[in-house]
Amino acid sequence: MSSEVSPLAKVGGLADVVGSLPKSFDQSKVDSAIFIPAYSEINLKSIMAETVLKKNIQFLGSEYKIQILKSELPNSKVPLFLVSENSYLSQGPIYGKSKSDKEGETFKFLLFSKAVLESFSELGWVPDIIHTHDWPTAPLCVMVKSLPESHPLSKVKTVLTIHNINHQNYAGEEMLRGVGIKIDQLDPSTKSESNSQYYNLFAQSILSTDRVNTVSPQYAKEILTAEYGVGMDKFLKTKAGGVVGVLNGIDVDYYDPSTDQSVYFRYSSKNLDEKAFNKTNLQKMFGLEIDVSKMLAGGVTRIDNQKGIELVLAAADELKNENIQFILLGTGDEKLSKKLQQLAKKQPKSFVFINRYDHPLARKIYASSDIFLMPSRFEPCGLTQLIAMRYGSLPLVRDTGGLHDTVKDHKKPGGYGFVFGPFTSEALTNSILEAQKLFQLKNVWRKLQLRAMEQDFSWNRSAGKYLDMYQELVN
Ligand code: ADP
Repeated sequence: MSSEVSPLAKVGGLADVVGSLPKSFDQSKVDSAIFIPAYSEINLKSIMAETVLKKNIQFLGSEYKIQILKSELPNSKVPLFLVSENSYLSQGPIYGKSKSDKEGETFKFLLFSKAVLESFSELGWVPDIIHTHDWPTAPLCVMVKSLPESHPLSKVKTVLTIHNINHQNYAGEEMLRGVGIKIDQLDPSTKSESNSQYYNLFAQSILSTDRVNTVSPQYAKEILTAEYGVGMDKFLKTKAGGVVGVLNGIDVDYYDPSTDQSVYFRYSSKNLDEKAFNKTNLQKMFGLEIDVSKMLAGGVTRIDNQKGIELVLAAADELKNENIQFILLGTGDEKLSKKLQQLAKKQPKSFVFINRYDHPLARKIYASSDIFLMPSRFEPCGLTQLIAMRYGSLPLVRDTGGLHDTVKDHKKPGGYGFVFGPFTSEALTNSILEAQKLFQLKNVWRKLQLRAMEQDFSWNRSAGKYLDMYQELVN
């Protein structure tokens, strides 16, 4: 159960994970299917989605006409169910545009969960486990605990994967009752401090789920602390099975520079010289000086306080005379985006900011850049550094969360990246300058690139850990 799935409905890494993990399962061992809302941005015809169920759902005194359509996750045989409903689920963007939309979003995803729960038995498929992801679908873990014994799913086990603990939501008692949640079964410590009629639904989901995990071993440790836990540390600490950190993988067929149709020149580790043509084409496209000897620092990111954008702003300004070019693609926070636009205007020869969501361009940046910036304040796993490595772009990251687990500093034996500690623009600037020095040493650089490209970040490494978790739950 997810709010995002790549390549159909994507905002961030959650989509990549839900769109690739089920593909990596041996379908003879796990009979899995994905459920998402049928957002208006999904072209149902192009994925040949067929209606399998029509029904009416009652929610908070109104009736909603839903349709469940069935298709397959593109390039796979994994069944994909899409829930269509005209007034909320299939209206507007995946998430609301502002924080004030949160209550509306909560309503929308609760309606989605309710629709799915009420449809399972009619779909002729009763799962052993429901795997939920982040705050939009986490409440299902609470909802199933309130199901009557007679419901076919009353014994279902739940898994909650935390992709980002900072995103949480609240719901009032009326809305909770509306999805069948019994208020007297809720833990009073999950009540909102400012309004006792409201509950932190994410906290309650953590308490209710049978297993909770997150997307890297380091982040699993970090979220148990007050610094990173955003109030959830105390709930996570009560979980008997602990919080497991399962490192995310990427779809290595989807992200492959030797077959990628979006890049200017395809290449692999065998003809890595070709990568430079991608850089010169990108330089040309964005009016940068066409020069392979200039180090190109790339970034593809949500523009968010999480991602260390203010450090990039300061470092790019500091390094304006250093023969380094920056190119950043991203959308999100308006204030930060404005600052990025201003810098790009001031330094058009060294700093490019593209303020849009653009998959093909993202791939061009992975293929063209020499280093890939991720100076995150916190990072549950991070996928972009993994994708960048696959394209021979060396990750330059802050030592936090999944970045700690996936990027080995070049100074360590077998290392292939640049890792810095303090969340300061000086630390980022120094790290970029360190990279630039090594960039001049072509043979050393090539060796690091080859090492980065050799790393196995496919799901082969960690899909088995999810299978073990599922197995434990059904035994
Ligand atoms: P998060 O989930 O915190 O946003 P991740 O590194 O886990 O960060 O995943 C981000 C995913 O979203 C990557 O696949 C990245 O390529 C993609 N992405 C982010 N911003 C954009 C954008 N503006 N255009 C295209 N793809 C983007």
